[in-house]
Amino acid sequence: MHEISIAGAIVDTVIDTANKNNAQKVDEVFIEIGELTALNTDQLKFIFETITKGTVAEGAKYNIETISPLIECKKCEYKGKIKYFEKLHFFLPAIKCPDCGETDVEVTAGRECCVRKIKIS
Ligand SMILES: [Zn+2]
Repeated sequence: MHEISIAGAIVDTVIDTANKNNAQKVDEVFIEIGELTALNTDQLKFIFETITKGTVAEGAKYNIETISPLIECKKCEYKGKIKYFEKLHFFLPAIKCPDCGETDVEVTAGRECCVRKIKIS
């Protein structure tokens, strides 16, 4: 369950930002999670709710946006989505170019795990 350490890091960022802006309360948190991180967003929300109790971020609403993976193929210069792969939730598979099957590809999206913005009051 790597959700716990990631959720902890996200909450630290949120609380830190809230404190720097003298927030009374964090109302909403907007988060981007890449599909390739294989993070379980329901589990993340649950952990957020648990670990923010008693902090400025208690009761905040979480908007989690999932980012689809995008690649750039180094062989045929294909740019775009990858074909849906199986076993995502077990282990990260090798990523291939859907056009030529090359595995030497650059992942340009899908590994995000960041706080995009927060709404405070
Ligand atoms: Zn290719």
